[in-house]
Amino acid sequence: MSGKLAIDGGAPVRTSPLRAGFLGASEIGEPEIEAVSGVLRSQKLFRHLLEDDESYAARLEAAYRERLGLPHALAVSGGTSALIAGLVGLGIGVGDEVIVPAYTYIATAAAVLSVGAIPVIAEIDETLTLDPDDLERHITPLTKAIIPVHMRGIPAQMDRITAVAQRHGLKVLEDVAQANGGAYRGKPLGAWGDAGAFSFQQYKVITSGEGGMLVTADRSVYERAACKCDSAKTFWMPGDDAHSFAGENMRMCELRAALGYVQLGRLDEILSRTRRLKRRIVEQLMGVPGIEAERSPDPEGDCGLAAGFFLPTAAEAQRFARALAAEGIECGTTHSDGIPDRHIYTNWHYVLNKGSADRTGFPWSPRYYSGHVEYARDMCPRSLDFLNRNVVIQVGHRWSDQDADDVAEAVLKVARAYY
Ligand SMILES: *Cc1c(COP(=O)(O)O)cnc(C)c1O
Repeated sequence: MSGKLAIDGGAPVRTSPLRAGFLGASEIGEPEIEAVSGVLRSQKLFRHLLEDDESYAARLEAAYRERLGLPHALAVSGGTSALIAGLVGLGIGVGDEVIVPAYTYIATAAAVLSVGAIPVIAEIDETLTLDPDDLERHITPLTKAIIPVHMRGIPAQMDRITAVAQRHGLKVLEDVAQANGGAYRGKPLGAWGDAGAFSFQQYKVITSGEGGMLVTADRSVYERAACKCDSAKTFWMPGDDAHSFAGENMRMCELRAALGYVQLGRLDEILSRTRRLKRRIVEQLMGVPGIEAERSPDPEGDCGLAAGFFLPTAAEAQRFARALAAEGIECGTTHSDGIPDRHIYTNWHYVLNKGSADRTGFPWSPRYYSGHVEYARDMCPRSLDFLNRNVVIQVGHRWSDQDADDVAEAVLKVARAYY
């Protein structure tokens, strides 16, 4: 293999560029088409027209209860809805503070604001998930919950996070949107916290187009969440009317549920491929001079969706990513041109600006909130340092071993040329 980099006019490692593409969405085929068509043919799109053993939504919930080993699952319209339902289920609302990581999709913070609570932004560590050591300094008398986010399929350090939460009497809501099927220390993600929220949006591991799932061990959390997600819950699910309140309709229809149910049958196969491929890449990058391999808190439970590593500086990460792209390996840094990365808190404009939909300044103004949250672009310097120095390669589940080896070879080639 010639050492001259493609960016300097050498031959690229790949002549046809290697991309990851969608995971579950790229597998949509006859089984999905058949299931969704069956729902259309039945003319019954609403789950409550069906018995539980006929309804795809009910069967999807049953499958999640089984996977997670939890007694309650609620199919909803999206991942953000699942987070909102989870927060309401846990009793979080106006005036409360909820700790979220500096690196997560903006929807995590949006869900907190939607229930009238205030997102408090905490640092991530080199795992790119919530730093357990940074949590305590953000806890105030108003703090009610922590939302750890398993970014890029990397499990957050749930043992340490739940220990902090227990010490301070806080609830834990896991955001599992990017880590469906992952685990930490042998326990499924979503089953560590008081509740877990999944997304089936197109970019996630498997998809129902749009859709989500809330899971919990706590019956009252489930009932409150169901009440939030259905303005007429008590008609379909008679229960404790005395504790009911107004909800919005965030239910999942049978069309989406049918798609999601078939896709769920593909989840473990997709992850067994991504995990194996990521391991194959990461093993070849161990100890390469110039780059620092990422540290997953649990490589076994990690979904294997992305292989990342750190460069010594942000400028070097940029240079490295450009050289890698020229070798035919699609990769990213947090400073890509075009759309700013909405996963980084510095781009959460309506959070940093305390944006409100109404003239009362809800939920930030003193009539709702008695705390003192302050936001600044430089408030999480360690998170920005890790993110700015990171180069990430999404893993495609249909890649061959040779594809994975090409990724490793290209990274090694660039590293050798620069370090
Ligand atoms: C996608 C995503 C969400 C929101 O899910 P939707 O289904 O798009 O509402 C929440 N959190 C994270 C980390 C996500 O990646």
